[in-house]
Amino acid sequence: MSTDTTPDTDEPTSTSGGGDDLLRATDLRVSYGQVTALRGIDLNVEEGEIIGLIGPNGAGKTTFANTISGFLDYDGSATYRGEEVAEREQIDLVEEGMIHCTEKRDLFGFMSVEDNLELGSYRRAEDVMEERLEFVYDLFPRLEERKNQNARSMSGGEQQMLAIGRALMGDPDLLILDEPTLGLAPVILDDISRGIDRIMEEDPITILLTEQNVTFAFKHSDRLYLLENGEVVRTGTPNELKGDDYIRESYLGG
Ligand code: ATP
Repeated sequence: MSTDTTPDTDEPTSTSGGGDDLLRATDLRVSYGQVTALRGIDLNVEEGEIIGLIGPNGAGKTTFANTISGFLDYDGSATYRGEEVAEREQIDLVEEGMIHCTEKRDLFGFMSVEDNLELGSYRRAEDVMEERLEFVYDLFPRLEERKNQNARSMSGGEQQMLAIGRALMGDPDLLILDEPTLGLAPVILDDISRGIDRIMEEDPITILLTEQNVTFAFKHSDRLYLLENGEVVRTGTPNELKGDDYIRESYLGG
């Protein structure tokens, strides 16, 4: 692994809100053997923002999410709280509030809903666990109704709620949500949507949201990056991007 590019400046990008960077990628490049998945990504996430990373299948969204949380080797730079991710242990990133809710959900299928949730805060103090559990059950009452049910017997949408709930149990500062709406029925999508709104109202955090569902990402994001074939091809606020002909025609149905 090499980290050959260091940002020269901490100045926010033209479309950023001028706050402090929690996360910054500079010329970030990732390959799987001969397959190049990220071709020099520049992206920043400021404290308190929801950043949408949108793009079609295979654009590199999951690769980006996995790289910044320390799962993959990279070239270029990826920093969390100003420190290079490659130089940190994953567990330290978690301790410092970076919690990743993966596309695959990674639930423990033969364990109960509540046990899955409690595992999400195993690095936190007992009183934090109690307080988080109350918050998560309040956010997704269906999880409380089913707290003794095995995770694997929950519906796809309920499992997604559980995965998000478990991530919230870790008391995140930066929550990485990798394609949370993938394959979900509209009614569950509304529950997830309301959940995100309530998190930001009641206990605001920073969120990196990767999504193929452009409408969902536009609804929740302060700024968005459009990734195609491993490159950022557009970035801006939802309003700026709604005015972009290419985005309208290719992603927002004209
Ligand atoms: P999706 O929305 O379908 O999940 P994505 O935008 O998240 O797509 P990635 O999963 O990051 O995209 O994939 C980016 C590219 O890297 C694709 O060409 C994919 O085939 C390739 N890729 C991803 N994982 C691997 C791997 N483990 N080995 C080889 N190539 C991979």
